[in-house]
Amino acid sequence: MIEDSYRHRGMRRALIKTLEEKGISDPKVLNALKKVPRHVFFDKAFLEHAYQDKAFPIGEGQTISQPYTVAVQTELAQIVPGDKVLEIGTGSGYQCCILLELEAKVYTIEYLRPLHLQAKNLLTSMGYQAHFIHGDGSKGFSAYAPYDKIIVTAGAPSVPEILIEQLAAPGKLVIPVGGSERQEMVTIQKLPGNKIIKKEHNYFSFVPLLGEQGWRK
Ligand code: SAM
Repeated sequence: MIEDSYRHRGMRRALIKTLEEKGISDPKVLNALKKVPRHVFFDKAFLEHAYQDKAFPIGEGQTISQPYTVAVQTELAQIVPGDKVLEIGTGSGYQCCILLELEAKVYTIEYLRPLHLQAKNLLTSMGYQAHFIHGDGSKGFSAYAPYDKIIVTAGAPSVPEILIEQLAAPGKLVIPVGGSERQEMVTIQKLPGNKIIKKEHNYFSFVPLLGEQGWRK
């Protein structure tokens, strides 16, 4: 049974207020963040960290993304109910829960097997249903393509062409691109007729995208 006390909900409300102050304005995104108990992804000893607007280690050298980053990527993706979404980098599973709260049909892929299994078990125990895939998401996942939205939650050296190919038209890819220190958030919109619109947004700091189209083969 997941414990979500009055205190947890209070801490979550304070976090949402911080996100609003930082410019997150989509009520549906804020509402999804309000619903997902982020402390469940933390050891009890680190409760105080769960509702700070910070990334936090989850093992295997990886992190649960900062709530602000999750909110920005989700806002940029413009999720509508029923969207088929590929999330690349399951990590803790937190971003996946946010997408599920927005009523997306989620395919989430993780490179590191221990994290894949941990997230699959945790989210299932929380009552969330997604397709959990273990593999190299830098190549997307062609078996279920095309996707209405693709969200990459690790920093890529460049935009893998194969991800654009796996987008529906219309469809949208949200991907941080850059060096190891910082990456620019990039959106690629594919319009009917396969016209592409690329936009650059703010800078963030992600763990590196691994795999064939990432930093390490
Ligand atoms: N969305 C995650 C969350 O909510 O916790 C963020 C996780 S972390 C910032 C990025 C994740 O991407 C890590 O778990 C890492 O192992 C994973 N990753 C890196 N390269 C990958 C690849 N090629 N395919 C799938 N996952 C990858």
